[in-house]
Amino acid sequence: MNETLDITVTKTEQTRLTVTDFSQLPFGKVFSDHMFIAEYENGEWTNLQVLPYGPILMSPAISALHYGQAIFEGMKAYRFADGKVSVFRPEKNFERFNKSATRMAMPSIPQDIFMQGIAALIEIDNKWVPSQDGYSLYIRPVMFATDPYLGVKASDKYTFALLTTPTGPYYSKALKVKIETEFTRADEGGVGYAKTAGNYARSLYPFAEAQKEGFDQLIWTDAVSHEYIEEAGTANLIFVIDGKLVTPSVRSTVLDGVTRDTIIKLAKNAGIEVEERRVSVKEVIEGIENGRLTDAFAAGTAATVTPIGEIGYEGKVYTLTDPSTRTISAGIAKTLNDIRYGLIPDEFGWNWIV
Ligand SMILES: *Cc1c(COP(=O)(O)O)cnc(C)c1O
Repeated sequence: MNETLDITVTKTEQTRLTVTDFSQLPFGKVFSDHMFIAEYENGEWTNLQVLPYGPILMSPAISALHYGQAIFEGMKAYRFADGKVSVFRPEKNFERFNKSATRMAMPSIPQDIFMQGIAALIEIDNKWVPSQDGYSLYIRPVMFATDPYLGVKASDKYTFALLTTPTGPYYSKALKVKIETEFTRADEGGVGYAKTAGNYARSLYPFAEAQKEGFDQLIWTDAVSHEYIEEAGTANLIFVIDGKLVTPSVRSTVLDGVTRDTIIKLAKNAGIEVEERRVSVKEVIEGIENGRLTDAFAAGTAATVTPIGEIGYEGKVYTLTDPSTRTISAGIAKTLNDIRYGLIPDEFGWNWIV
């Protein structure tokens, strides 16, 4: 970050803080008072502004709606006990955002716009960062194509926005997940590693079908053989097998999660062996049956560390170890939590104090 950017600030006349119930915060439904917007036109980012959160005027012809040039990110700001606000590893989200942008033929966002936009928003909406344990301010960067043009081509115009939403714990209980072997989320050469809208759109129908069968989430398998586990679609997957942390390696079909990366580093630091490799469905199911698999959890910014309690596969449901006995994931989750809230030293330099 170098010089301070020129950001126009328009404050809301009526804060919604007073009418917001901070004890009732379903994920992503309550937005803070302001948002940040920047527009891309004629090859440059202009019109940087912080303004009241609300609808924006758009043509129904914008190409994001028709052809899906839309990407997003997700990170969180935490309130320390001393009142300071810290964003967790935002530069990782910045890098991934531009990786997604490149794959979707969209322009990169400069780092100073991304970071100073976050800082400006958190300054004006500081009171929206919750202070209860387990709560945070979720930050959602998004970019979408705004050319009002029906030809199939990369748009010339884009809008970048930052939205923030105070949030509590995402899942409250151990998950019942289904290993999906019919539908797929991503394929080699595709866009699975990008946080782009269509990846989530294509997962909604299979997810709804699984929900009808009583599952909370899906475990996606590879599109070629359905024999290997990839990820959960909004979170990465981590297992403990023979006391080692085992996680599917990041590839073009698996999103490179910041939480996954963080947990791997914390585990190694704690002397736990980590294997990043292909993980077969067979090995997981057999591990549950013979007791070698002692822990399984989903890891993501929104979901944090969520234990998996049951796994459905080919019509059978397998029950994993009692989540209350899982010392490895519980230990890592606690360390991660304590770093995020500034309760223990941040040895890795992950906290960005705004
Ligand atoms: C966002 C996301 C994750 C988790 O990534 P984090 O950086 O840890 O939040 C995992 N898989 C997919 C498909 C995602 O969109």
